[in-house]
Amino acid sequence: MRPFIYTKPATAADAVRAITAAGPGARFLAGGTTLYDLMKLNVETPSSIVDVNSLTELSSFDTSGAGELVFGALSRMSDVAADGRLVRDYPALSESLWKAASQQLRNMASLGGNLLQRTRCAYFRGGEPFACNKRQPGSGCSAREGMNRGHALLGGSETCIAVYPGDWAVALTAFDAKVDVLGPKGERTIALEDLYREPGATPDVEATLEFNELILRIRVPVTPLGHASTYHKIRDRESFAFALVSAATALQMDKDTVRDVRIAVGGIATRPWRARAAEQALVGRPLTAQAARAAGDVALQGAKASDDNRFRIELGAQAIADALMIAKQRGSRQ
Ligand code: SF4
Repeated sequence: MRPFIYTKPATAADAVRAITAAGPGARFLAGGTTLYDLMKLNVETPSSIVDVNSLTELSSFDTSGAGELVFGALSRMSDVAADGRLVRDYPALSESLWKAASQQLRNMASLGGNLLQRTRCAYFRGGEPFACNKRQPGSGCSAREGMNRGHALLGGSETCIAVYPGDWAVALTAFDAKVDVLGPKGERTIALEDLYREPGATPDVEATLEFNELILRIRVPVTPLGHASTYHKIRDRESFAFALVSAATALQMDKDTVRDVRIAVGGIATRPWRARAAEQALVGRPLTAQAARAAGDVALQGAKASDDNRFRIELGAQAIADALMIAKQRGSRQ
């Protein structure tokens, strides 16, 4: 591991000032569950670390509001997953946290840091001798002709097909969440969906944040869609593993007809993926198992697969269908 300068500011404004002074090679440290890993692998080699764990103003969350749920960026995953209102009224959000990582990691990981976790592509994490445009721009992509069973079907480019690995951001995408960030010019708000970039020609640039912008909080509008929702995650190992595919679904029904629906997909795309065409295919129609599966097929239209990961097209479409039927069943118990 390379030496770095360590600072621990007392306020968010101080943290932004400190990282701005340190320059683009610096990193914020929150839970550390991604950053420490990548430092040990020499993928991340920060010149300076700005530890934000003293910023108590970011460490609480409030799900009691009439207009929105507010989550401080330093709230821990396990605390939020167990929140009574989330479990009862927004099961998709709670489940996306419960089904992420191990209990030990959920106890450490912050909600803000979780949004920015980096891909699990083995070539990215493995370092030399593997070419990786995300780690070393212009070097190539070992996954294209290599082992890509877990790589993206949606949103990839010639330069990178790495999957966005998180769960929480996928569920938040279904609920139109926003993030407030603080930078040198003050505070701004970004739709969570707009926080992420597809790889295009620059897969090393993953988020629309500047290096010196700090996530302060995540806000979710209160919606009647919350109760009839689920986060359905298919993985190789049920205890803890990254998703082969996941689907966050939320429904509002008029008797048997879909009044409103949200579908977001994880594990198969380069960013949290909102399936709007699939949503539109369902609105105003009865939600049968056949209609749910047809919506799953719509969501996977345009998927680009290799021989290794083609099975995840069928898996993805069926996971979405199953998630819609689980949400419907929950709604019928209201
Ligand atoms: Fe690197 Fe992306 Fe290719 Fe993986 S898929 S080797 S992260 S460029």
